Amino acid sequence: MTANGTVADKPDGTTAENPPQRALTAENLVVEFPVGRGQKVHAVSGVSLELAAGETLGILGESGCGKSTVGRALIQLPPPDSGTVRLGDVELTGLGPEELREARARMQIIMQDPVSALNPRRRVKDLVWEGPAIWGHDGSDKDARIDEALRAVGLDPETVRDRRPHELSGGQCQRVCIARALMLDPHVLICDEPVSSLDVSVQAQILNLLETTTRRYGLSMVFIAHDVSVVKNISDRVMVMYLGRTCEVLPSDNMHLRAVHPYTRLLLASLPEAQRSAHTDSAAEVKQAAELPSPLDPPSGCRFRTRCPLATDLCAGEEPPLREIAPGHRIACHHAEPRKDIP
Ligand code: SF4
Repeated sequence: MTANGTVADKPDGTTAENPPQRALTAENLVVEFPVGRGQKVHAVSGVSLELAAGETLGILGESGCGKSTVGRALIQLPPPDSGTVRLGDVELTGLGPEELREARARMQIIMQDPVSALNPRRRVKDLVWEGPAIWGHDGSDKDARIDEALRAVGLDPETVRDRRPHELSGGQCQRVCIARALMLDPHVLICDEPVSSLDVSVQAQILNLLETTTRRYGLSMVFIAHDVSVVKNISDRVMVMYLGRTCEVLPSDNMHLRAVHPYTRLLLASLPEAQRSAHTDSAAEVKQAAELPSPLDPPSGCRFRTRCPLATDLCAGEEPPLREIAPGHRIACHHAEPRKDIP
């Protein structure tokens, strides 16, 4: 069911009510940025992920770990240097410009700064209608669809329809961005730090809206953020990234108990005392103060080894493969082992 109350047929034969089982799959994404003198930033180095229909996958990591670059590579803005992305059954990396534009309509991105994401000269009703207008909708039910989309994101159409972005709060602007995304009947939302620019009180409202919206319309979501508790609470599974690579992928349930990768434990150690366990407390030994290495010249082997208290010669010589240690739980570490006392 779409934001306007209709069911839309997709070019790949699926509908919003009958989405593909695997909403999104990415394999071996590599993104590098040349910075002159033959140097390049190794932003994303061989990241793979899969997203089931209706699932929320959180991507967690510090600033500069490549999580936003992964989000952009998924939507092909820009396409990765290598690797593949499949939206349902459609391989995006091989599409021509027109087919790619069509596919992108089914994968909408919500950005960090909602105010700058909206054209300041346009009114809310025109901003919300932008997508259907681009796609040549005849506009016969335009007003009704705009109002319906605004109500779906908790905005009163009478109050906001004719306003411009500068007349709205940051939270209201983010709601408009979500309404715009829903108008194109997407299968997947890519949310890149969608609440980090908002006041704490508004953050909870927007997170709640994203959760109810994905459930209501059966959407899958990739939720990218640096805030551990936000990612943990909204996601079904969490993928932890460090310096362009995946460290650990695990269910969000009991994440603080399950996590075994030293970097994930370091991130969890930042949670308030009540959310931590004795297990994560011991992560205090991790070298929190150590500097993040440069993505221009990342460490050999395991990229986390310069901050890891468990590092050995093996960690410097060999990159640890991502291996499954329990159903739905994978880690890239030579030495960490699964815990045996998970409830
Ligand atoms: S592979 Fe080695 S350096 Fe990397 S996280 Fe594991 S123990 Fe630490």
